[in-house]
Amino acid sequence: MTQYYADLAWLGANGVQAGVVIDVDGERIREVRTGAEAPAGATHLRGLTLPGLANSHSHAFHRALRGHVQRRRGSFWTWRDDMYAVAERLTPDTYHALALATYAEMALAGITCVGEFHYLHHTGDGAPYGEANAMGDALLDAARQAGIRITLLDACYLSGGVDAPLAGPQRRFSDGNAERWAERVSALKPDGRARVGAAIHSVRAVPPHEMGPVVAWAAEREAPLHVHVSEQRAENESCQQMYGLSPVQLLEERGVLGPRTTAVHATHPQVGGIALLGASQSNVCMCPTTERDLGDGIGPARRLARAGAKLTLGSDSHAVIDIFEEARAIELDERLRTERRGHWEAAELLAAATYDGHSSLGWPDAGRLDAGCLADFTTVALDTPRMAGTRPEIAAEALVFAASAADVRHVVVGGREVVRDGYHLLVGDVGTKLNRAIRDVMP
Ligand SMILES: [Zn+2]
Repeated sequence: MTQYYADLAWLGANGVQAGVVIDVDGERIREVRTGAEAPAGATHLRGLTLPGLANSHSHAFHRALRGHVQRRRGSFWTWRDDMYAVAERLTPDTYHALALATYAEMALAGITCVGEFHYLHHTGDGAPYGEANAMGDALLDAARQAGIRITLLDACYLSGGVDAPLAGPQRRFSDGNAERWAERVSALKPDGRARVGAAIHSVRAVPPHEMGPVVAWAAEREAPLHVHVSEQRAENESCQQMYGLSPVQLLEERGVLGPRTTAVHATHPQVGGIALLGASQSNVCMCPTTERDLGDGIGPARRLARAGAKLTLGSDSHAVIDIFEEARAIELDERLRTERRGHWEAAELLAAATYDGHSSLGWPDAGRLDAGCLADFTTVALDTPRMAGTRPEIAAEALVFAASAADVRHVVVGGREVVRDGYHLLVGDVGTKLNRAIRDVMP
């Protein structure tokens, strides 16, 4: 058994407690005690410890675009052209190196589980690799080497737009039809710290009659099912024109929504969309740092939650990788829109970043500091210039509204230390690894 002693820990409904002993047996928490003295031999976690953070929506290779895509004017669609230029160049080896370094950056930011929304499956001309899941396997192995959990959300991607053929690098994304997608995905073999889930890329990329096999695949395995929806008004318009339904209505009609489903973005869910996402108890993953970078708009997070949807958070395009920044943006964007403060409690946003995020990725036994749960936790320093002055009674608020990824000091995943004193114990110099990996894939 291993023992950890946290000066302070955020214990969900029990708030922030002092003197918290976490007993860990193997990869799980055996017991959590509060108000305790530090046991002899326990590893001291200086600062505020919280459950590991879940990054519920990631495209690892977009990390290479940071800075480049901020250089010029444009829209989501011009950004997508830049993104495709990188997608065109990746091989299983260069993708592995880039994903490993990106997941290592996530670990340094306190993220212990990533939902990787994966659609870059095949060779440049669309033919499968000899090993059909070469790209997916590269991502699974990258997460393993970076020491974090992964749910590989393998995305079905069949068309280049609503009723449009595939073009350019999109040919790398397609399996031809949903049956062949299911066949390939069924062959993925995740290890103990990995899961495989399903994704429908979007109503743009999967025609309605091809959604059924993806829904069935996920249902048979009780696996998570994720789908991009209504990030852009243009998607709403073309969907409405083609099918006479909004994207959310179309997904509802095809049986896609439900508690295992995550609607990613839902920035413009349109009339009725909020009620449908809420009534079906779907998760909604908002990615505010990406949505603001792309000029998407502000999603109706509070209204969705009030209707019954569960909020989760993702860094998506990795304009930055900082789940605290995603969390506070939910509240702060709402303030800008409504000209009022106080829509979300810090504890609700932390739940989105921890327990609810993990559940949406198929890890209901992670994201909580509780007996029996997976021993995944993150400690944020309270003696950095940014966090100094934080007292226990305001620690949750300081965390959500001021902490940054750079304040993360220790990270434990499955009972194993991954980050100590801000240093990645498995990967070493993450900056150098990112530099190399990005240099190798940028045009
Ligand atoms: Zn995305």
